[in-house]
Amino acid sequence: MLAFDTIADAIQAIRSKTISSTQLVRYALAQIDKLDPAIKAFNSVYPDQSLARAKEVDAGRITGPLAGVPIALKDNICTTFGTTTCSSKILANFRSPYAATVAKKLEAAGAIILGKTNLDEFARGSSTENSAFGPTRNPWDTARVPGGSSGGSAAALAAGMCCASIGSDTGGSIRQPASLCGLVGLKPTYGRVSRYGLVAYASSLDQIGPLAWTVADAATLLNVIAGHDPNDSTSVPHPRPDYLAHLHQPIKGLRLGIAKEYQLASGIDPQVKTAVAAAIKTYQALGAQLVDVSLPHTEYGIAAYYIIAPCEASSNLARYDGVHFGHRTKEPVRDIIELFSKSRAEGFGEEVQRRIMIGTYALSSGYYDAYYLRALKVRTLIRRDFDNAFTHCHAILCPTSPVPAFAVGEKSADPLQMYLVDVFTVTANIAAIPGISLPCGFTAAPKPLPIGLQLLGPAFTEQKLLRIAQMYESATPWHNHRPPLA
Ligand code: GLN
Repeated sequence: MLAFDTIADAIQAIRSKTISSTQLVRYALAQIDKLDPAIKAFNSVYPDQSLARAKEVDAGRITGPLAGVPIALKDNICTTFGTTTCSSKILANFRSPYAATVAKKLEAAGAIILGKTNLDEFARGSSTENSAFGPTRNPWDTARVPGGSSGGSAAALAAGMCCASIGSDTGGSIRQPASLCGLVGLKPTYGRVSRYGLVAYASSLDQIGPLAWTVADAATLLNVIAGHDPNDSTSVPHPRPDYLAHLHQPIKGLRLGIAKEYQLASGIDPQVKTAVAAAIKTYQALGAQLVDVSLPHTEYGIAAYYIIAPCEASSNLARYDGVHFGHRTKEPVRDIIELFSKSRAEGFGEEVQRRIMIGTYALSSGYYDAYYLRALKVRTLIRRDFDNAFTHCHAILCPTSPVPAFAVGEKSADPLQMYLVDVFTVTANIAAIPGISLPCGFTAAPKPLPIGLQLLGPAFTEQKLLRIAQMYESATPWHNHRPPLA
């Protein structure tokens, strides 16, 4: 009964004393012991601390909306316990002197953070193959990737090692792994959740958000982590609505936008097309009206993202030089410059180095206008596309990922192929709007793989977006599917 518990199940079972938090945590730890050697979802696990907290919950000394619920945190979110490695050699031994606001809020709500999950190094990637500690595997088929960069958070949940998890999304890193692992993943509006203590990738695009089995669980987590934080000047002071309050109330007169540019996008797997078309029919049967919308600058989304994100990344990564932060070379060096370059060459993996070179090049004098400035102009155009589209509809519906989980190694030699997987996700970060991925079907046997549906909404309409998502979930069985684990 414990396997694959949702947050709602876990809370109910703990409150009614059907099980104790200690039992639940023990179960999760046993599941990690059994399955994680093959899946590699976790970079670190904290059994003693987790069991000690569970005991406190069972004794009534820790309370809150998540009291006793075992969760997992992406390893680029700072905690004062253990390490925060970003799955990079350069931070392999990094212990943060402070905790991320999100980590503090989760603990204050009574959650039990079992451990920190694997990711593409510094969150750069779409498959979790770029981790310095080895790739995470997809629990639905361990020959395949779980998506990325929050692949560890997605795989830990999909393999029943926790009841929910937290990821970060700069260009799709919550939604795409959720899609590839059969989960719900929500990227909130930029500024809705504090980024304080999230190791920065691209500061103007990063958001933290939940991965969960159900829309209600995602809403429960968003209730806990959202809100203004004086430590993050980009977090907005808007009051946080109760995302659970009207969740089961369908939106009357729902209008869903279908973007012609998304339908014309090349490289969409036929089974993804079929599943998303069926989801559109489901919404129609629920009374939704479809409206054609146009997002004419979609085709420049990937190009703009893969300039803006590396530019910000190259600047954010400058601090890892072996002096301020991070691994320091043991090789003999002549001067400080050589110390920097040797430390960085030893500490950063190939994809991170590629991003630093792209970003530094695009920002260098003579190229700044041609690349970075132009990408920022495209950013404005993409934002306007969405503004216009949302005057006609409540949300836009499209696939989350053009393809289901791909094989480990299939795209890792070809960065461009990897970048193209992000075609439906990056524009939400560029436009700073919220997006949610929901399971909407499976590929054919013998090894069925999850397919994800994405809903994008105007800024700060998470409440509505979750209700729209809930309408679909209530009408379909996909969120009840679990991988067949050995
Ligand atoms: N795949 C994208 C990238 O590599 C997005 C990653 C993310 O959202 N962190 O940049």
